[in-house]
Amino acid sequence: SVPTASGELKRLLTEIPDFPKPGILFRDVAPVFADGAAFRVIVDELVARFAGRFDAVAGVEARGFVLAAAAAYATGTGLLVVRKAGKLPGEVIAESYDLEYGTATLELEPNQLAPGARVLVLDDILATGGTLRAAASLIERAGYTVAGIGVLFELAELDGRTKLSGYDTEVLLAE
Ligand code: AMP
Repeated sequence: SVPTASGELKRLLTEIPDFPKPGILFRDVAPVFADGAAFRVIVDELVARFAGRFDAVAGVEARGFVLAAAAAYATGTGLLVVRKAGKLPGEVIAESYDLEYGTATLELEPNQLAPGARVLVLDDILATGGTLRAAASLIERAGYTVAGIGVLFELAELDGRTKLSGYDTEVLLAE
């Protein structure tokens, strides 16, 4: 049978207990990226969900970069990198958000795309939604439109979708 994106994620996503902290069940996407056929299927599926509706793809550091670069290349669209604080040069816009303990900050270099460009935002995991909401805010503050948000896996019990209401959010596998 033909491999599906959700089937490949079920087969290859690995659970690692107590990483990076005790009590966290880490979902490792490395085996998905390492399998060439699976990687192609998941990137193709993400792109298909938003076909014709985006002009560029933004990836959230670091695993989102992998997905966004492949999706941008596959569709001949541009790539934006949403980075952790302190990595980008020159003029940046920053968005801070709350984590379970403390805060985090994401940054974007503005003025890379035409005003109103439709940007698809990608990351590997949707947990509380704070990361993707901050990334989406940066895209909007830069003068672009969020075409949608795509992730491989959603930890549904954390209800991250509530933070992303108003955005077209597509998840390839939820649990
Ligand atoms: P959040 O802001 O809570 O939605 O967290 C999303 C970010 O943290 C993503 O960039 C994920 O890569 C990472 N993340 C959160 N929870 C997990 C988890 N259980 N396993 C792997 N990565 C996670």
